[in-house]
Amino acid sequence: MEGLIFGPVTSRRFGISLGVDLSPNEKRCNFDCLYCELAGAKPVSFIKDPILPEVYIETIKKSLKEFPQSQFITLTANGEPTLYPYLDELVDMIKALHVKQKVLILSNGSTIMDPKIAATLHKIDVVKLSLDAVSERTFKRIDRPIKGLHVKDIIQGLKQFSKEHKGVFILEVLVVKGLNDSVEEFEKLNDAIGMIKPDRVDVGTIARPPAYKVQGVSKKELEVLAAIIENIPVTIPWEASYASFYEFNKKDLLELLKKRPQNADDVKRSFSPASKLLLDELIEAGVVRIQEVAGVKFYKA
Ligand code: SF4
Repeated sequence: MEGLIFGPVTSRRFGISLGVDLSPNEKRCNFDCLYCELAGAKPVSFIKDPILPEVYIETIKKSLKEFPQSQFITLTANGEPTLYPYLDELVDMIKALHVKQKVLILSNGSTIMDPKIAATLHKIDVVKLSLDAVSERTFKRIDRPIKGLHVKDIIQGLKQFSKEHKGVFILEVLVVKGLNDSVEEFEKLNDAIGMIKPDRVDVGTIARPPAYKVQGVSKKELEVLAAIIENIPVTIPWEASYASFYEFNKKDLLELLKKRPQNADDVKRSFSPASKLLLDELIEAGVVRIQEVAGVKFYKA
């Protein structure tokens, strides 16, 4: 079946990984985060028409044959993977393959209070859960959860999970400009994280065009905020020019391309859609030319 597996993708933190999409047909999430890289959607509590675990296992087996160098099988979704109703069975079936790849799950952490889900996640080698805020107001503003979810319950669930988890447990905080980027919020996060005691905390910011009009913060700001977290190893995943999406007018764009030719990656990651269109028009008009340097495409004015 198409779309069940993606990758392999390479990331600095997890190496080479094969992604398993537990909601391949549409976004199904119990959050509607402002920063989501998928389009905004009303939060829901279940995955519609779930694919049977047997189908996933066959696809995983085929993909592992094709990409034996993969280091992780990553359970993720177009949304929240713990909403997948056969997660426990699927994890057991992957484990029964006895392959060298470790299993990783990327979840928003909102279901961790459910003992059944916590028990499933305990079987997974690396569990990455999110916590973007400690104050209910900020949590609701950023993550926009389905009715009935409260951050104090999630924190309680994270504490309990961490106490019992034998594998690696990583907590991720995603910083959104003007929402959870205050020292005050981070001091509260530090208190909560001190009680949760994950193995590691990743403090990141917006890396892809977000669902709603929000912005990330600079690397410097991330460093200042990350330094507030004490006694737990903290990493700052950072990819250059990811924090904001630049909107250029013709004059500024030409100025930039004269001084500093941009490569295709820069354009993809940091230009707004309108700026990309403008660049195409300038290429068409012959004002901007493309030059290839050692296999990398550059745009020059
Ligand atoms: S939890 Fe993840 S998938 Fe769900 S809305 Fe937030 S960023 Fe998107």
